[in-house]
Amino acid sequence: MNFATRAIRAGQQPDPATGSIIVPIYQTVNFVFQGVGKPSAFEYSRSANPTRRAFEQCLASLEEGQYGLAFSSGMAAIDAALSILKPGDQVVVSENLYGGTYRLFESVWKPRGVQFSYVDGTRPSAFAEAIRPATRMVWIETPANPLLQLVDVRAVTAIAHKQGAVLVADNTFASPFFQRPLTQGVDIVVHSATKYICGHSDVVAGAIVVNDQPLFEKLAFYQNAVGAVAGPFDSWLGLRGLKTLAVRMKQHERNAQRIAEWLVADGRAAGILYPGLASHPQHELARVQMDGFGAIVTVRLRGGLAAVERFIDGLEVFLFAESLGGVESLVCHPWTMSHGAMSKQDKDKIGITEGTLRLSIGIEDADDLIADLDKALARV
Ligand SMILES: *Cc1c(COP(=O)(O)O)cnc(C)c1O
Repeated sequence: MNFATRAIRAGQQPDPATGSIIVPIYQTVNFVFQGVGKPSAFEYSRSANPTRRAFEQCLASLEEGQYGLAFSSGMAAIDAALSILKPGDQVVVSENLYGGTYRLFESVWKPRGVQFSYVDGTRPSAFAEAIRPATRMVWIETPANPLLQLVDVRAVTAIAHKQGAVLVADNTFASPFFQRPLTQGVDIVVHSATKYICGHSDVVAGAIVVNDQPLFEKLAFYQNAVGAVAGPFDSWLGLRGLKTLAVRMKQHERNAQRIAEWLVADGRAAGILYPGLASHPQHELARVQMDGFGAIVTVRLRGGLAAVERFIDGLEVFLFAESLGGVESLVCHPWTMSHGAMSKQDKDKIGITEGTLRLSIGIEDADDLIADLDKALARV
C-alpha cells in the first residue's frame, strides 16, 4: 500500500470487540489477567496500550521502519534516543539544531558525562574530522531549525557506520511524507509529533522509529522504565492527525513554495531561506534525498529587533508563536524564542540574527497569507 493509504490504515484494524472502525481511546490503566501468570495481550498502560500501539505501528509504517515508540513529547523521544549512551561516550552533532535539543544535550546529558561536538552539518567531512574513538552516536537534523540547512544523509550515514556509531535523524521538519531517513541508512528516527504528525497544534507528543530489534528493545525498555509515554487520547489524536498527513503536507508545501517565490520577487526581505528555491545552496541535495521541500520558510528582515517588532505587529493571519507544523500559519523569532537558551556567541556562530524570522506556513488560502505578509512588510 502507498503512503496515503497506510497513513489511514496501518496499525488499525476494526475493533474486535465492537467492530468500531476507528481505534478506540483505551482510556484504561489496567488489563485483566486471564489467570495466574497469564496476562492478556496488554497489562499496564505505561508498558503498552492498544491506542498507543496502533499509533506506533502507523508511525513505523510511514517511516518504512519496523518498530515505533510514541512518547509524551519530542524531547522525551530525544532523551530516550540518548539513553543508549554511557558516560565517556561522544556524540557528533550537526550544529544547526532545535534549541531544546541543544539544551538537553548541554544541560542534562553533558553533566552526566556525555560529550557533544558540534560541526557544520552541511559539510560531511566535518563529521569525519570530529569523530574520535569514543564517538558512539552521530546526531543530525535535516532540514535544520531554523535556517533550513540540509545534511547529506547518505554521506553522513557512511561516516557514522564506518566508526560503528549510531546515526540519529530528527525528521520533524520534513515529516515522513517528504523524507524517510531509515531508507537512507539512518538507525534511529526521532520526531516531535507535536508538529506535522499530529498537525493541528493540539497535542504535544514524540516518536522514535527504528529497524533493529535489539535497539528497539533497549529503547522500549527505557520508555517503560522512565514512563514518558504518549497517553491514549494523545495517541488517538496522533492517529487522527496521520490520516490527513499526505493531503496536509501537499498543501503546506504548495503554499510555502508560492510564498517563498513571492518573497523573493517582492525583495523587501533581505534573505529568503527555503530548500524549494533554486537559490537555496542545497537545492539539488534536497531534490535527491527528499520527496518535497516542506513548509518552513525563514526570512531575514533588514533593521534588527525594531523591524521584527513592527513586522509582527502588522500580521493578522500569521500568529506569533513558538511552534510549527500545524494547519495555521505561525511566525517565530528564533533569537528570543526557540533559540533563546543559546548564547549570543553560539547564535552568531550558526547564523541566527536578531532579524531572522521563521515562518511555519499553514494550509490557509495562500492569497490571504501573502496579503498578510505584504501588509506587515510595508511597516518594516
Ligand atoms: C519541537 C521540536 C522538538 C521538540 O519536540 P516537543 O514535542 O516540543 O518536545 C524537537 N526537534 C525539533 C526539530 C522540533 O521542531
